[in-house]
Amino acid sequence: MEYVEPRSLSEACDALSDERSDAKVLAGGVALSIMMRWGLVKPGRLISIRYLEELRYARVDNHQALRIGAATTHREIETSSLIREQQPALAEMERRLASVQVRNSGTLGGNLCHADSAADPAPLLLALDASVVLASVRGRRTLSLKEFFRGYLTTALAPDEILAEIVIPAQPPRSGAAYMKHSTRNAVDFPFAGVATQVSLSTDAASCAGARLAVGAVGPTPRLSESIPRLLDGRLLSEPVIGEAATAASLEVEVADDASGSAEYRRHLVAVLARRALTQAWERARAAAAPERS
Ligand SMILES: Cc1cc2nc3c(=O)[nH]c(=O)nc-3n(C[C@H](O)[C@H](O)[C@H](O)COP(=O)(O)OP(=O)(O)OC[C@H]3O[C@@H](n4cnc5c(N)ncnc54)[C@H](O)[C@@H]3O)c2cc1C
Repeated sequence: MEYVEPRSLSEACDALSDERSDAKVLAGGVALSIMMRWGLVKPGRLISIRYLEELRYARVDNHQALRIGAATTHREIETSSLIREQQPALAEMERRLASVQVRNSGTLGGNLCHADSAADPAPLLLALDASVVLASVRGRRTLSLKEFFRGYLTTALAPDEILAEIVIPAQPPRSGAAYMKHSTRNAVDFPFAGVATQVSLSTDAASCAGARLAVGAVGPTPRLSESIPRLLDGRLLSEPVIGEAATAASLEVEVADDASGSAEYRRHLVAVLARRALTQAWERARAAAAPERS
């Protein structure tokens, strides 16, 4: 097997465009090394993007969108003061992902490209309406995260494409986001269920101006709820309204029995996590609205 370490994204795209090489992108190597050890993938060429500074950054653009390079590690996101200020829920989610050793190697881009249905970042990024920028020798294209995930361990990436950047649009005024998960063990464990939400409020901070909710780890791929915007947009928010919406979101998800728990238990967990996440996002949105109203 050949190992190459390109000096730029453009060199990496060139190396990946050679169809004969059966090449794979190597980021942190956390998931890929396991897949190779199990014989599930047998690349002829590994193209390492791990040390490409060009893909390791977090910055805010002219439209106030937060742009994160795909090779930025979980740990870099967790500890970035810019991200803590711009998207505190993202830094919090990263702090609770796996162990510090995994966070030091694993990258946000690698996590999304691996597309494990139980991964933590996907539901939160879906709730935040994030998109991804894919690069290849043919140019660049941008996809919403909803379009990017196609199924279990399956994405819309073409074989010659590299995920270059994750873009989180400027959040609406008076908004808050939250991610809640349940793991069978407390530490270093993929979630058994994970729910992320974003809630924004009307100018008087009483009604919901917009709500998004995404569920991870219960089906083959993370999913955005269709019922949440319908049930919450324009509604006067209260605990009963949030409880009703959380139950509706749990009834909407496809859940299956597996060795770690029944479908019924997972659905119950989604309802509980959805209620907690919506409540926390609502509290954060109210806190964001407070300075405008004082
Ligand atoms: C013990 C353990 C516990 C974990 N717990 C959790 C957890 O609780 N929650 C969670 O979310 N994750 C968890 N993870 C996964 C971890 O978070 C990593 O993010 C993830 O494994 C992949 O990141 P990576 O950078 O190592 O990708 P790699 O292993 O390098 O790559 C993964 C796949 O994506 C492709 N790829 C990588 N980057 C790109 C790119 N930029 N463009 C195109 N293709 C690319 C590779 O070719 C490969 O197919 C855990 C992992 C381990 C080993």
